[in-house]
Amino acid sequence: MAKKIEKESIRNIGIIAHIDAGKTTTTERILYYTGITHRIGEVDDGQATMDWMEQEQERGITITSASISCLWRSHIINIIDTPGHVDFTAEVERSLRVLDGALVIFDAVNGVEPQSETVWHQADKYKVPRLAYMNKMDRVGADFYGSVRMMEKKLGTNPLLLQIPIGTEENFKGIIDLVKMKAVYWNKDDFGLTYTYQDIPVDLKDEVQTYRSELLDKIAEADDELLEKYLDEGNLGEHEINKLIKLMTIRYKGVPVYCGASLRNIGVQPLIDGVVDFLPSPLEIPPVKGINPKNEKEETRPCEEDAPFAALTFKLQNDPQAGILYYVRVYSGFVKTGMVVFNANQRKRERVNRIIKMYSHKMENTDALRAGDIGVLVGLKVTNTGDTLCSEGKQILLENIVFQEPVISIAIESKSAGQQEKMENALARLTREDPTFKVKTDEETGQIIISGMGELHLEVLTERLLKDFRIEANVGKPQVAYRETITKEARAEEKFQRQIAGKDHFGHVVISVYPLERGKGNQFENRAKETEIPLEFVESVKRGVFSAMERGVTAGYPVIDVLAVLEGGSYNQSSSSEMGYTAAASHAFDDACRKAGGILLEPYMFFEVITPKEFVGDILGDLTSRGGDILSIKSRQTVERISANMPLSKMFGYTTDLRSMSQGRALFTMEFSHFAQKSE
Ligand code: GDP
Repeated sequence: MAKKIEKESIRNIGIIAHIDAGKTTTTERILYYTGITHRIGEVDDGQATMDWMEQEQERGITITSASISCLWRSHIINIIDTPGHVDFTAEVERSLRVLDGALVIFDAVNGVEPQSETVWHQADKYKVPRLAYMNKMDRVGADFYGSVRMMEKKLGTNPLLLQIPIGTEENFKGIIDLVKMKAVYWNKDDFGLTYTYQDIPVDLKDEVQTYRSELLDKIAEADDELLEKYLDEGNLGEHEINKLIKLMTIRYKGVPVYCGASLRNIGVQPLIDGVVDFLPSPLEIPPVKGINPKNEKEETRPCEEDAPFAALTFKLQNDPQAGILYYVRVYSGFVKTGMVVFNANQRKRERVNRIIKMYSHKMENTDALRAGDIGVLVGLKVTNTGDTLCSEGKQILLENIVFQEPVISIAIESKSAGQQEKMENALARLTREDPTFKVKTDEETGQIIISGMGELHLEVLTERLLKDFRIEANVGKPQVAYRETITKEARAEEKFQRQIAGKDHFGHVVISVYPLERGKGNQFENRAKETEIPLEFVESVKRGVFSAMERGVTAGYPVIDVLAVLEGGSYNQSSSSEMGYTAAASHAFDDACRKAGGILLEPYMFFEVITPKEFVGDILGDLTSRGGDILSIKSRQTVERISANMPLSKMFGYTTDLRSMSQGRALFTMEFSHFAQKSE
């Protein structure tokens, strides 16, 4: 790109929408009008630009976050993709972390749907300024003003109407721009690429005047001087109005509302103008916070090119040609091709071989990424999602994205031995891309167990495995990932003595186990005398104990919260071996645990549901019958927020049950809280 873009002209935004509201269609139009895509691919033909993977096209949902850049009025707009399904809230939260503003798309027929509510509240939590777009104004049943009222009532927001529609449903012709006070019509012959400003139709004049006054009344308070002028003169100029709208937006006091029909190529360009005019640049948000790993003190980094380098890796994606793409947001300083940066999480240096900006389907090499920008680094080796990259001399750990503990697992078996290695490689790649996804091998059955955060999460991952990586495998049913622990102390002795491959192996240990409080983890202590067990073999004993803990004792689930103590044993000059002690320790630990009142622990989830008041009774009754503990019930304007501790095993299929209890109007989120004794 010949022209140098300054960082104040960067916008990092997400496009957020309920499935089917028109996110893909609108994104495509944005990319087309901003000059990046040169043809309009129709979603219905499966040609969507954001939908990279075959699977996403089939599902019609975008499930991975990547970033695509485009140019508009000398600004770089980085569009960070945000997924729209409830099970992917971790992905949504991850993308909200790195963006500065969002465009929320609603379907003007359905207005505010439950899922839009969840995402809206997440955006509140991360303080993301927003624009709202009422799409599909051409559809039968489209109701612009009704949808706006829903925003007020359900989301408790203050809508700022910057436009009103000219006509509706099949008579939807264009929009009235309440700031410029013009009617806007789009040219059908060039896919809406050009549009004209005309006088406001006479029959709309009164209505327009009412909405214009309402807008000015709402925004004037944002600036004392302009408020005075408005009260004096009864009007304000375009430039002044825009300034007020921006202030309202970035202070979370109001949300500009637009309308259009992306499929009919009506209304998209004013939205892009809105992103540039009203959403904040990286300079207008507070400097990023982090921890200095050397002294554990909090530090900040300003969005300046000459400040020390700090960037957050928010996504790994595999590209068949370029290799692994590391999507980063640079918060301060800059990174150049060939530079060596420091990974503060892994404590390792990484070399940046190549820097890429993603434009729709095209990748463009660039020599640097500067403070405020988003792009892709190539050539890193050890970096994982969520890691901070920084300068080695000025280290910082940016607030990491908190990932949830995997609580659901599925067994998976390759259909032929030849596929096994291929499958393991593919699984290893998937775990790097998604830190909430874990893989382990069941030692007894040899099966591979994958675990994740929810049913759909694992379904998507297995589908990628089978389709993208073309692995032939049998996939089991989802299971709760339990843990084992003990309830009392016990002791066991084991002497291992065997000849293997002509060599003697000896090990003899006495091990005691003690229950620990929940959340303490596993611990190991050596109380044996050197004369009983020389120090060189203690490490082997510990290894044996830990491998037994991981494998599980009574039911094959990992053991947690146990203290194992090596009390004593004996030593044999000629045949003591590492293997002998590892085996003896592992058996002794198993034996002790069997005598120690073993129990199963199950994951309890911190659960929250937001529901219209009329369904509270049914939902509470149902939660109690599932063995839940209600923690609190809080009233908001029209809804109640219930939080509870729920045993995960009782929550399979809850999505469907809640939908039928609440006519689809309640929504819930759930995340791992703690392990507790399995309920019956
Ligand atoms: P996404 O799931 O949010 O990405 O939504 P899509 O962009 O895939 O759109 C969902 C469906 O709505 C597709 O069949 C689109 O053709 C259709 N659609 C999108 N925008 C409009 C619109 O403005 N008017 C009408 N009538 N249909 C639309």
